[in-house]
Amino acid sequence: MNSVEFRKDFPILNRKMNGQPLVYLDNGATTQKPEHVVRALCGYYGGCNANPHRGAYELSVKATEIYEQARARVQRFIHAARPEEIIFTKNATEALNLVAYSYGLNFVQPGDEIVISVAEHHSNLVPWQRVAGQRGAKLKYIYLEKDGNLSEDDIETKITEKTKIVAVTQVSNVLGLVNDVRRVADKAHSVGAVCVVDGAQSTAHMQVDVQQLGADFFAFSGHKLLSPMGIGVLYGRKELLETMPPFLMGGDMIEYVEEQDTTFAELPAKFEAGTQNVGGAAGLTAAIDYLEQFTFARIEQIEKELLDYALPRLRELPFIELYGCDTRRNNKTGIITFNVKDVHPHDVATILDAQGVAIRAGHHCAQPLMRYLGQNATCRASFYLYNTREDIDRWIEALQQVRKVMR
Ligand code: PLP
Repeated sequence: MNSVEFRKDFPILNRKMNGQPLVYLDNGATTQKPEHVVRALCGYYGGCNANPHRGAYELSVKATEIYEQARARVQRFIHAARPEEIIFTKNATEALNLVAYSYGLNFVQPGDEIVISVAEHHSNLVPWQRVAGQRGAKLKYIYLEKDGNLSEDDIETKITEKTKIVAVTQVSNVLGLVNDVRRVADKAHSVGAVCVVDGAQSTAHMQVDVQQLGADFFAFSGHKLLSPMGIGVLYGRKELLETMPPFLMGGDMIEYVEEQDTTFAELPAKFEAGTQNVGGAAGLTAAIDYLEQFTFARIEQIEKELLDYALPRLRELPFIELYGCDTRRNNKTGIITFNVKDVHPHDVATILDAQGVAIRAGHHCAQPLMRYLGQNATCRASFYLYNTREDIDRWIEALQQVRKVMR
């Protein structure tokens, strides 16, 4: 299938915005949902809804089956060794907080070090500030090479015998560069640290194998992967999850509760307190089924073709500044971050919106990276499998309009 053929599965792409056909280039924020996923969500609520794990009646058993099948589907999708290593959360943010609160606050000691990269989304940064602050540990940063890739020297020198946790994103949501997570994980493991991987921007775009990556923990959000909002995943190695105390307390995560004390359920229930998002899990299963029909090689090819089409044309425009687009490695996903010289990114996004083109503008929840790049804010266009050359043409025409309006 090519991108034009994918589009028929995404009815929202036929909408008009401000009287113009929609060009949706904010896939880094969230992806649109194919009919297949919407049907799965409606099918669950229309025909199978009940509280899982609790009822003895058939509908509840059915809801439990749907939920547990989703877990097994995610396990296969990211190549985890066991289903109980898959913990459902509401998004990547909650998954990363789970690791920070449950692992970080309990296993990091005063004087230890936590190493992250300066390209982290706040979700994989602020929780580590909290852990470092509360435990008297030091938070250290891997900075970037000129081309935006992680500094190899920093990977070698910042991760030391004092390091307990290394947390990096697989793909930067600003630069779109794929980090060599295996290399970072190997270095972390060589000093006895655990490696936490933020997969929010990678899981929809490339085949993920958590074991090959060497990830001890891996987090992602369903909504960036064609699924409904409100469902996310934390993968954790079983040996680690077993040593960790629960993150949230309540129903379903217990074994026995006495007046003064509680014993906890086995994995994965220990980390899934309260009523879970079964509809979201059904949607996630449908999204993975949808994606896997096409292979990630196809998706990567589509994004690469769009990049190869867009970048030379953007470079011809003297008023455009690009960030992270000169990687010396062939490791860029379909994210283009840019500024229109002398125009605030919010103005750019507003003028584009008037022409039906949806992009992101702001600090992208990555303020330390913005500061490192010497910017307060940038614009970001991010592609996915349903974007076409016509979308790029419309976007570039709209950028020329920005120049005219803001002269
Ligand atoms: N990490 C990265 C790299 C992201 O791009 C995002 C969202 O944009 C997140 C984490 C957080 O995802 P969510 O808001 O779905 O929890």
